[in-house]
Amino acid sequence: MNCPARVTLDAAQLAFFDALPAGAPSVQSELGCELELGHEGSHAALGQQVDATMWWIQWTLSASEVNPYTWCPGRQVAPVVDRDELECSLFIGHPGEHSSTGRSRQDSRAS
Ligand SMILES: [Zn+2]
Ligand SMILES: [Zn+2]
Repeated sequence: MNCPARVTLDAAQLAFFDALPAGAPSVQSELGCELELGHEGSHAALGQQVDATMWWIQWTLSASEVNPYTWCPGRQVAPVVDRDELECSLFIGHPGEHSSTGRSRQDSRAS
């Protein structure tokens, strides 16, 4: 279950992402929070990845900002080039549970 919050980037934020040397397509102007439902702290959506740096949009009801992060070490694989190879697709220090949106994966250790 993901947090349903959404954010609309302003012109300055879109210009910032357009200026990044990323081979990925342009960032969408509206993004959804990628954290778990009911998480603490700011909402967060991945905007763009440049090498080992991920630029996340983080927002609250009153403000939004773009911050650089590295991957969550939920699984250490470096250098990471493919999000699908990650167990957790969120940023380091993210609130809530680890995400595994890249690959739905059963925990074989359960019960
Ligand atoms: Zn959220
Ligand atoms: Zn994580």
